[in-house]
Amino acid sequence: MSSNADLFKRRQAAVARGVGNSTPLSAYRAVNAEIWDVEGRRYVDFAGGIAVVNTGHSNPTVVAAVQEQLERFSHTCFQVMLYEPYIELCEKLNALAPIAGPAKSILFSTGAEATENAIKIARAATGRNGVIAFTGGFHGRTTLAMNLTGKVLPYKKGMGSALPEIWHVPFPVESQGVTVADALRHIDFLFKADIDPSAVAAIIVEPVQGEGGFHQAPADLMGALRQICDTHGILLIADEVQTGFGRTGKMFAMEHYDVSADLVCVAKSLAGGFPLSGVIGRADIMDVAEPGRLGGTYAGNPLACAAALAVLKVFERDNLVDRANMIGERVKARLQILSRHNALVPIANIRGPGAMVAFDIVQSDKRDQPDADTTKKVIQAAYEAGLILLSCGTFANTIRILVPLTVPEDVLEDGLSLLERALAL
Ligand code: PMP
Repeated sequence: MSSNADLFKRRQAAVARGVGNSTPLSAYRAVNAEIWDVEGRRYVDFAGGIAVVNTGHSNPTVVAAVQEQLERFSHTCFQVMLYEPYIELCEKLNALAPIAGPAKSILFSTGAEATENAIKIARAATGRNGVIAFTGGFHGRTTLAMNLTGKVLPYKKGMGSALPEIWHVPFPVESQGVTVADALRHIDFLFKADIDPSAVAAIIVEPVQGEGGFHQAPADLMGALRQICDTHGILLIADEVQTGFGRTGKMFAMEHYDVSADLVCVAKSLAGGFPLSGVIGRADIMDVAEPGRLGGTYAGNPLACAAALAVLKVFERDNLVDRANMIGERVKARLQILSRHNALVPIANIRGPGAMVAFDIVQSDKRDQPDADTTKKVIQAAYEAGLILLSCGTFANTIRILVPLTVPEDVLEDGLSLLERALAL
C-alpha cells in the first residue's frame, strides 16, 4: 500500500495547487467518527469532512439505501426521466424546513450550486439584481458564489474581477467589536449611497457563519433583516449549507429564530457524504423560473437522494438533534476546563449552538489578540496525536469541532483527550 508521503508526492505532481490540503494524510477507510489512513493509523474525526457526515462515515443505513438504489440505476438525469427518491426527498424537505406557508424544493450537487441557484431564483422572482451579503460569510467558490463570499483571502484574490450589484455589510461579532447596530447602519448607508432598496433582490446570510468562525447571527439581526426584506420586497436567503441537519441542536438553524427565510440553501450533511444540495423555498417564489432555467445533468442524483432519505431516517430513529445538544454541552464543558489550564495554549470565546462548537486560540500575553501561528501548530499536533481538527475564522485562529452526531461516547472522550494533548503542544 502507498504511504502518506508517496501519495503526497504524486498529488503534488498531478493535482493543481489551487485545492489546498489541511493535513498531509491520505484516507483509506472510515467508520462513524474514526478514519484510518493509508498507513493503518487511526484518527478520531472532529472535522466530519467539513460538516458533511453528521450521521457518521459509512452509516450502515445510508450504505444499504445507496446499495439498493445502485442496483436499480445510478443516473437518468432528472430532466430526462424523473425518479421517486428525488420527489420523496423534496416532499420531506418541504415538510421539515422552517418556511412560512407552502414550500417547494429543487436539488443540485454542491453548496455553491445551492447558493447560486437561490440567487437566480430570487432574481427571477423579484425581477431585481442587487444582492446583499455579509463580511466573513462563505457561500462557495464558483464565480457567483465566490462573489457572495465575504472574504478576499484565500478565495477571491486573482480570481477575476468582482461581479456587479453584490454588496457586503459587516457581520455582527461582538468579540470583534461589530454590533447589530453597525451592521444595520451599513445597510442604511448602502441604500443611500449605492442602491435603492427597490433594486435589491435578496439578502443572503448564514444563521451561524461557518468558515467565518462559528459566529451566530443575533436574533436582533435576523429580525431586522426580515423587517427590511418585508418593507422593501426583498427576499431573505438563509445559507444553511453548514448549519443544516441537526448541527446546531435544531434540524435547521433558522428554527432558533422567530422569523423565517424565504429561501433556504442546504447541502453537506443532507446526504451523509454523497454530493447533494438543494434550495427549499416559498412555493410562489420557487415556481417563477421557467422550465429549463434551473437544473443540471447530475443535480439531485438518485444515489445521493437515496442517501439523503436514509440520513433523515437516521436522524429520527437515533434522535440526532437531541444528541447534537448533548454533544455540544459535553464538548463545551470540557473546553471550559481546558481554558482554565495554565499549561495549555490559551483559548477563549468558546461558542456555538448545539454541536457547532468553536473556540479561539489567543496570544498568551494578550488574550484579546488572535494567534494564527499557534493555531496551525495545534492542528498539526492534533493529527500527529491522532485527531483530525479544522480551523476557520477571519483571523485563522478559530478551531471548530464538527464531530459526527453519531459519535460513540468513548470515541468522543478519546477525541477530547487528544485535543487536550494537542493544546499542550
Ligand atoms: N455555504 C456555506 C455556508 C458553506 O459552509 C459552504 C462550504 N463550506 C458552501 C456554501 C459551499 O459548499 P460547496 O463547497 O459544497 O460548494
